[in-house]
Amino acid sequence: MDKKEGAIGHGALSRLLIRLSKTYDVFAPIEEEGLDQSIVRFEAVGKDNVKRLNLRTKPSFSAKKLFLPQRQPMLSMRAGNGGFSHKFAEPLKKPQLVFGIRACDLIGTQRLDRVFLEEPEDPYYRRVRENTAIVGIICHESDDYCFCDSVITDEIAEFDAGKGCDALLRASGSGFFVKLITDRGVALFRGAMLKASAMPLTRREPCRRMINPTRMEEIFDSAAWDEDAKLCLGCGKCTLICPSCGCYTVEDESLLRALGERVRHWDSCQLASFTRVAGGHSFRDKREGMLKHRAYHKFVYFKKRFGKTMCVGCGRCTKICPTGIDMVKVINMGL
Ligand code: SF4
Ligand code: SF4
Repeated sequence: MDKKEGAIGHGALSRLLIRLSKTYDVFAPIEEEGLDQSIVRFEAVGKDNVKRLNLRTKPSFSAKKLFLPQRQPMLSMRAGNGGFSHKFAEPLKKPQLVFGIRACDLIGTQRLDRVFLEEPEDPYYRRVRENTAIVGIICHESDDYCFCDSVITDEIAEFDAGKGCDALLRASGSGFFVKLITDRGVALFRGAMLKASAMPLTRREPCRRMINPTRMEEIFDSAAWDEDAKLCLGCGKCTLICPSCGCYTVEDESLLRALGERVRHWDSCQLASFTRVAGGHSFRDKREGMLKHRAYHKFVYFKKRFGKTMCVGCGRCTKICPTGIDMVKVINMGL
């Protein structure tokens, strides 16, 4: 009989991922050497890189690309015989496994669910979501940028109990505790020889940063927006890296004379082109308005519609901003 909880060593876990890669496209946090620092990001796992599996460090980039690809083919078109034919794209060739996702990233995906699975639901997103197995990992510490405790506390507690995951990991010494949540989770770890052990319930230290989005009406006309906006380069990195930002644009690309493809790409409300319409008019072309829109969408508009803040407090937008615009300082304004 399968155990529902147990412990597994790092080596055995790596071997399990290689075995699972025959059935799934397996994605997990992999460490890569950069020019002056290493980065951890979700990559397809294989024999070549499994030794660089890093489940201890929060990935620099969220797992969003695995649910909402940066470039998503939607349909292909062909001209011929006096007309056009088209074929809808299949988003996944085989089921995928997202392994080692943290609470902020899974809850960020659940924010995307609210938008993409509402009527009229998005069939590409639906197919990916239904064919993705998820193994979460409980954070053992927060980093210098996290402020998730001040926006998604209850949901983190639910994640730590296994909600939204097929199985859940927690680091322990040189290995991991594993809790199997769903039948799919039990199947994933079948044959992994878990050693009898119960997952401890200890909670990590609280985040070192806290955000206070309770004064959003009060600060709307503050001059501080202009000061922050003067620093903004309009590069869009803050939204592209965000696990809960899901804006996209759709384009028809010509491949050959008689062949074309409709694709969608990530887009950003921080790019000047975002609200530009025919005739060149832009509805939001001032930096200050764009910055404010991002903050109010994250903490006010989405909450009014879905009852939750869109921001999940991962802190990545602050970490990546080339001019140091800090979501916590922007919203806390003088607190
Ligand atoms: S990352 Fe910073 S500079 Fe770039 S658009 Fe966002 S706030 Fe502006
Ligand atoms: S707005 Fe910033 S802190 Fe909030 S979820 Fe997006 S990237 Fe993370």
